[in-house]
Amino acid sequence: MLVVMKHNASPDAIEAVVDAIQDMGYGARPMPGGQRTAVGLIGNDGRVDTARLEGMEGVLECIAVTKPYKQVSREWREQDTLIHLDNGTVIGGDAIVLMAGPCAVESEEQILTAARQVKDAGATVLRGGAFKPRTSPYSFQGLGEEGLRLLALAREQTGLAIVTEAVDPDGVDLVAEYADIIQIGARNMQNYPLLRRAGQSGRPVLLKRGMSATITEFLLAAEYLLAEGNDDVILCERGVRSFDTHTRNLLDLTAVPVVKSLSHLPILADPSHGTGLRSKVVPMGRAAVAAGADGLIVEVHPDPTRALSDGAQSLYPEQFAEMVGQIRVIARAIGRDLAVAEGMGPDEA
Ligand code: PEP
Ligand code: MN
Repeated sequence: MLVVMKHNASPDAIEAVVDAIQDMGYGARPMPGGQRTAVGLIGNDGRVDTARLEGMEGVLECIAVTKPYKQVSREWREQDTLIHLDNGTVIGGDAIVLMAGPCAVESEEQILTAARQVKDAGATVLRGGAFKPRTSPYSFQGLGEEGLRLLALAREQTGLAIVTEAVDPDGVDLVAEYADIIQIGARNMQNYPLLRRAGQSGRPVLLKRGMSATITEFLLAAEYLLAEGNDDVILCERGVRSFDTHTRNLLDLTAVPVVKSLSHLPILADPSHGTGLRSKVVPMGRAAVAAGADGLIVEVHPDPTRALSDGAQSLYPEQFAEMVGQIRVIARAIGRDLAVAEGMGPDEA
């Protein structure tokens, strides 16, 4: 529930509402807005005495949030959430953010080469898994902490921000030490202990849609992160299971405008996992931007034929560069542009 204050409500009146909500046994979250402050009531079990709050000084009205997800909803917060990274990248605004890099960090040379290539093409965030959730236990599982160190080295040399996955609750703190954004993968979208830890990590989180998750389940998973006090959540549509076998997944681009209307959180698209096929990544990346995605996360490998994971869907660096040029045109046609990172200097190497 939201307690909307009058535009001239005093700080003392707002404070009194916060105290009253806490006194009733709920959490209170003041949210200053352009016109007026609203106080979010957290943990509503349906027995809130609204009359007590409505009668207080400075209170305009109490509004019930009708959706099952609360803090994630547009009812809770009308303006789009913006996420600011240390290198100046802003996610969720007018500018479209490009995150790119290999599926997995494989070696120093591979990740540093990939980092320079995707930076030259226009990306401001480097992706690369150090801990890989592989379908088969015999597949390459990632370099672990060494992979995180190599990502940090790539950031140092290029200024790119880093997004990389945490696969279990105990691994969150380690990933948070190195990463600018913690990724939670599709297979873990409903791993609630992992979500809670990531919600406490103090780092932005990129949450990928589960491969058979409804949009409501997706938004409820994001709610776990906000419920732990982490507002910096980026959603990512990466394809869902379908009956057709021509592509690895069915990239549900409808989810982009649907999520945009239901939530204030930014949403990216991942055309790499969404299609599984290199030749389909570029057209679906273009389509995602046209559909209103706030950015793309794309697998790019210096030599996809030798990739230790997801080579078949990894773009060649020149394909990525070409796609970026096309996306810039699409972005401008819909009143947007590509993100640049002010704090991202020239390569040191
Ligand atoms: C990945 O980004 O490499 C990955 C494993 O993605 P997903 O969780 O969407 O399968
Ligand atoms: Mn992958």
